[in-house]
Amino acid sequence: MLTETPAPLSGSAERPTTTVPANRPLPRAVHLSVRDDDICVLTFDRPGSAANLFDRSTLEELREALDWIAGQSQIKGLVLTSAKRSIFIAGADLKMLTGDAPPEAVREVVEVGQDVMNRLAALPIPTVAAIHGAAVGGGYELCLACDYRVASPDRATKIGLPETQLGLLPAWGGSTCLPRLIGLPKALDVILGGKTLAPKQALRYGMVDELVPAEYLVEVAARKLRQGKRRASGKGWVNNRLVAAIIAARLRHQLLKKTRGHYPAVLKAMEVVTRGVSKSLPGAMALERDGLVELVQTEACHNLIQVFFLQERAKKLSLPESSAARGASGTAALLSHAAVIGAGVMGAGIAQWLSARQLRVILRDINTEQVAKGMANITALFREGQKRHVFTPREARDGLDRIYPAATDVPLRHVQLVIEAATENLELKKKIFQRLDELAGDDTILATNTSALPVSELAGGTRRPERVVGLHFFNPVHRMQLVEIIAARQTAPEVLGRALRFVQQIGKLPVIVKDSPGFLVNRILVPYLLEAGNLFEAGASIADLDEAMLDFGMPMGPMRFLDEVGLDAALNVSKTLAATFSHFQRPNGSPWDAGRHGSIRPPRP
Ligand code: NAD
Repeated sequence: MLTETPAPLSGSAERPTTTVPANRPLPRAVHLSVRDDDICVLTFDRPGSAANLFDRSTLEELREALDWIAGQSQIKGLVLTSAKRSIFIAGADLKMLTGDAPPEAVREVVEVGQDVMNRLAALPIPTVAAIHGAAVGGGYELCLACDYRVASPDRATKIGLPETQLGLLPAWGGSTCLPRLIGLPKALDVILGGKTLAPKQALRYGMVDELVPAEYLVEVAARKLRQGKRRASGKGWVNNRLVAAIIAARLRHQLLKKTRGHYPAVLKAMEVVTRGVSKSLPGAMALERDGLVELVQTEACHNLIQVFFLQERAKKLSLPESSAARGASGTAALLSHAAVIGAGVMGAGIAQWLSARQLRVILRDINTEQVAKGMANITALFREGQKRHVFTPREARDGLDRIYPAATDVPLRHVQLVIEAATENLELKKKIFQRLDELAGDDTILATNTSALPVSELAGGTRRPERVVGLHFFNPVHRMQLVEIIAARQTAPEVLGRALRFVQQIGKLPVIVKDSPGFLVNRILVPYLLEAGNLFEAGASIADLDEAMLDFGMPMGPMRFLDEVGLDAALNVSKTLAATFSHFQRPNGSPWDAGRHGSIRPPRP
């Protein structure tokens, strides 16, 4: 029996299709339709969600769908696609692997996933994944089980295997199939780095075969089916046992040095991938299974997944906003016009980040030299992004064009948000806020990027204290995800809500904090740095201090950290904290003072 619901497929609308019913009751995440040219299109569309995920029921539906396809002799080929705007499949539902899931339950999840991927790979008809949006983790492993992969070149399209970043390894065939597709060295690069690649990079790596505009994806995928089943890969020469053993020995040493034993997933993934290349497919997949079951039980995996869930929660956090801010549609409008005051390290970084996310930005500093310096840094950031394929040359040029450099006061009436990132000095910032109060429109939100100064005091000097808030970005802006949103005593809840939405709009992770010295991060960080200073005072060497903390698991030692942040900046923050908390007094003759005599940079490995 056939249902009459139209097929929710892009690119297939012009062709008559027949939607294939499922045995299970609605709602369903997997939809099948067969076109009049006998090509089957399988569409993932998880009900009630913007994302497709592999949970138990989706895996079960997919298995049923593949079994149905395998029984239809008239079907000539299969195209897999997604009906979501920006997600192909975002991977496995991590809830299946966390909580109190016993090892046997985890093993079963892996086995079910591997079984489904194997059924897809074993279909006698050619198969193509038509990827638009994120195809990561289990989502890309599904693509690997297909004969071909075509992808849209859109920014939303991201391809990769980030499992090691979560303390896991790809265990639905990813660790086995990627080296067979692109060769061991590149596969190790992707899997051990937990990399997610932009479409162009994925094409260069060989992880996709072709880039095609999203609107033609399904049609081009259908045409690709004419090439028939893919023949076995010719990558055997880079995947032989001897080469793998040599690579493994060299990598083990490098990885241990880098991770200091804190990230077991990277080592385990390396072992599984390098041993798997010379095994049969079932043998290699058994290695994946055992490896994953082992990793899921580690503390590192547990903590990394916990961090992932916390980050997801921060991305979805919301606060009530006024109906005016929400507008007629009921959804809050995105910000489009901002100004950044101060074109130094932080101001330039913030302006670049905002303009790369489509905002128009006025960048103001005290004179043309400072503005020009800021613009040169922004140009360098766009150039670097271009090299890493984050931006196309056109996107980089458009990003630069959205920045308006200003060496004198300009009207700020149409600007929705001003971020002050001038030199860390309370009196200077107070003056700047008073001037901004005159220049900005009544609705404009005034934010400060201060590291430690009291935001409430800055707010108190304006006629609109309720529209003042702290937005504390970290250095370097393009790398650091966190932004502290500081609620001053006077900040209106609606302004806090808009600040939160703004931070989410620009793809950063928000944390809302009280206006208290050091806010959250510096309140934790400064005592740690002071303690390093105390130990230095007591005779510990800079190199030993950094080594000890690297061994402990910090990504960077405290002394190198001080050097990178700048001793003057660190000293400024510590003074602000010491004014309130006596135990934050810095030790005499600490390395912070050593900065006066030059760098404290320890020798780098
Ligand atoms: P910076 O010294 O690199 O830049 C400050 C800029 O402000 C300079 O270009 C200066 O000319 C400009 N400036 C001074 N007075 C001005 C005025 N009246 N109008 C316009 N511009 C003016 O400093 P930075 O490191 O970019 O820090 C800026 C702010 O960000 C500070 O409040 C700092 O505490 C905070 N912050 C710094 C870091 C960091 O690691 N550097 C991290 C987080 C926050």
